[in-house]
Amino acid sequence: MSHNEISVAIFDFDGTMIDSDQALVDPFLALGVPPEEISFGHAVAAECERLGIALGDYVDAYDTEVSQPFPGMEELVGGLGRWAICSNKHPSSADAELERLGWYPELVMCADAFSWHHKSLVPVIEAMGIQAEQVVMVGDSEGDLRCAQEIGCQMVWAGWNPRVRAAKPSGLTASEPAELLDWFPAIGGVI
Ligand SMILES: [Mg+2]
Repeated sequence: MSHNEISVAIFDFDGTMIDSDQALVDPFLALGVPPEEISFGHAVAAECERLGIALGDYVDAYDTEVSQPFPGMEELVGGLGRWAICSNKHPSSADAELERLGWYPELVMCADAFSWHHKSLVPVIEAMGIQAEQVVMVGDSEGDLRCAQEIGCQMVWAGWNPRVRAAKPSGLTASEPAELLDWFPAIGGVI
């Protein structure tokens, strides 16, 4: 596989870099949402509205201390050159988690950057001054795939997430984070 032109990794955060399913679900449960109503990959404000709870209450109930990186993600992050996060979550939740993890992406765009609508890679690559051909989008949801398709960049599924693995998505799926550096060596910042 040759992807020498791809030099920037853009990650979804929840369910892709960190194993946060439970942390995302717990506030909904605490606020009385029935478990069967909860799903993943939505813009946080829209999901709160759909489920009839206040965004502020959700953010207050979200525990930023519990979610851990998926195995191998810490090592991958340490080996990246230019990278960014494009997430539907609330910025205060993401900022607290990134600070705890000691991760410093070049750019973090969360739900507020997209006017609380579903995220998009268009403003991300514009802000970074890069082209879609340089980008690999790494994600765990259909929304991430739509982001990649919108700009026409490479998508890689986070197959280290058991939920992704069980869904068997069509398209390129990595079984562990280190495969990204094998497939796209230039995201390591050296060619
Ligand atoms: Mg996700």
